[in-house]
Amino acid sequence: MISPSPHFRPRLAALVRLALGGLLLLFSLSVWVSLPLLGGIVDKTNQVRDEYLPDLTRWRYNTQRTEQLFGFIQTLYWSTDSQVARNSRLQAQVLLDSFAFEPGSVQVAQVSRIFLDIQALARLRDSQRVLLSGLQALAGALSRDEAIPGAALRFAASCTRLGLIGTNWQALGREASELQARLPADSAHVLGELQNRFAQLQALEVEISQTYQQALDQQRQLAASFNSDTALKTQQIAKAVERKADQIRRYGLVTMGLLGAMTLGMLYAFQRLLLRPILHCTRALEQLNAGQPVQLPQRTLFHELDTICWSVSQYSDMTRQLQKVNHELLQLSQQDGLTGLSNRRHFDVMLAAEHARARRHGHDLTLILLDIDHFKAVNDRYGHPLGDECLRQLAVLLRSFSQRPGDIAARYGGEEFALVLPEITLEQSLLLAERLRQAVAELIISGDAGESVCFTVSLGLIHAGRSSQYTPESMINQADLALYQAKQLGRNRVEIAEEAVVAT
Ligand code: GH3
Ligand code: MG
Ligand code: MG
Repeated sequence: MISPSPHFRPRLAALVRLALGGLLLLFSLSVWVSLPLLGGIVDKTNQVRDEYLPDLTRWRYNTQRTEQLFGFIQTLYWSTDSQVARNSRLQAQVLLDSFAFEPGSVQVAQVSRIFLDIQALARLRDSQRVLLSGLQALAGALSRDEAIPGAALRFAASCTRLGLIGTNWQALGREASELQARLPADSAHVLGELQNRFAQLQALEVEISQTYQQALDQQRQLAASFNSDTALKTQQIAKAVERKADQIRRYGLVTMGLLGAMTLGMLYAFQRLLLRPILHCTRALEQLNAGQPVQLPQRTLFHELDTICWSVSQYSDMTRQLQKVNHELLQLSQQDGLTGLSNRRHFDVMLAAEHARARRHGHDLTLILLDIDHFKAVNDRYGHPLGDECLRQLAVLLRSFSQRPGDIAARYGGEEFALVLPEITLEQSLLLAERLRQAVAELIISGDAGESVCFTVSLGLIHAGRSSQYTPESMINQADLALYQAKQLGRNRVEIAEEAVVAT
């Protein structure tokens, strides 16, 4: 029998609470770790909104300004009108002042340089215009001089129509020196002056072209710095957000993995440590109900399960004892105490059952009543104990004559006995009764004092065929009558109930 273990056993309820607490802790931990990360993402988003978006807007604005600046530089370079050039310079200046930069940034220095270049370009263009107008005035005066030959006059006239940019001053200078060689000395002097101005304008144009290129380069660098800055900042924000999201993903995966592993572990532990012992107990109860030997787990992990197993074990022991007692009581209620044969009550029940079975299946049924002859005298002569022994030995003999399933040997009362023999013909019944009578007659019972007792029996037999109308009571009555007749006819004989006499 299992008894509650004296060893320490953890309480199941405490363990369940502990497991739930552990899961809650893990969940809280994951929330605790994830919340700041989620907060980081929200912060980054706010940062983009509050800081970078205005920055990006500002950069876009600056980029547009830079493109306008390009236009003003072009105008300054290409325009022949001094008024337009002055306007462009002023607008460029205003534009340069309107740039929005962080103080001390690279762009501030770049803008300053562009500003200086624009100033220089405007100044050079002004000088160029002054020089050109001087040259044109000189050429005009020359073209009105009637003393100068036709070719030189035409040259001077075309010089009055010259523009600023794109004129080949070198070629003009060469043409002037060729004409100069062919002119008289006073006229040649004017052409020399023209040639001198060509050289000055040519030098100025080179300088203007360099300043113009320098201003454009600065403008391009500025535009490029905006573009690269914008791309860099956007990339930085995207990277920062991606890092945070990746961290959350990793923490999430670890947490989910841990939760999954814990759940699987708990399910396995539940199945192995909890469910299995409970199933053992329920199987033990089923085995108990089926009357099979009970098997219970010897050891469980939990105090509560130990108690359940112990209770089931107690219950099974008690039930087994009860079943044993019930069986003994049933035996006692059905058996005769002296001989161990069926008693009268059980005999009545079994006769009724066999009679019903014979009727149902249509087979024969024989009842034999037998009574010891002059048994009172046996008792009187040898004493009651030896009389009892005679009854016991007769019971042994009767049992040996009723071995088939359905055969019943019973003590009908005092020294009277009965045999119920189903599925047997009258002839076979008669033969068996006769053999039994002889066997009893040959029986010798020895007493303690060396005395030997012999006795005989009288038998009354009734055989109910398959179409018989006998009831169990009428069979007993008929067998009793036959037994009475046997006594009357001298004892130690077999008599058959009259209605069932065998046709010979
Ligand atoms: P008969 O041949 O007419 O049957 O004569 P009998 O003496 O056998 O019949 P009777 O009815 O006069 O006597 C039956 C005797 O059986 C009386 C009684 O002492 C005896 N007897 C009944 N039950 C027991 C028992 O359990 N033990 C013993 N030893 N004797 C018993
Ligand atoms: Mg009797
Ligand atoms: Mg008798």
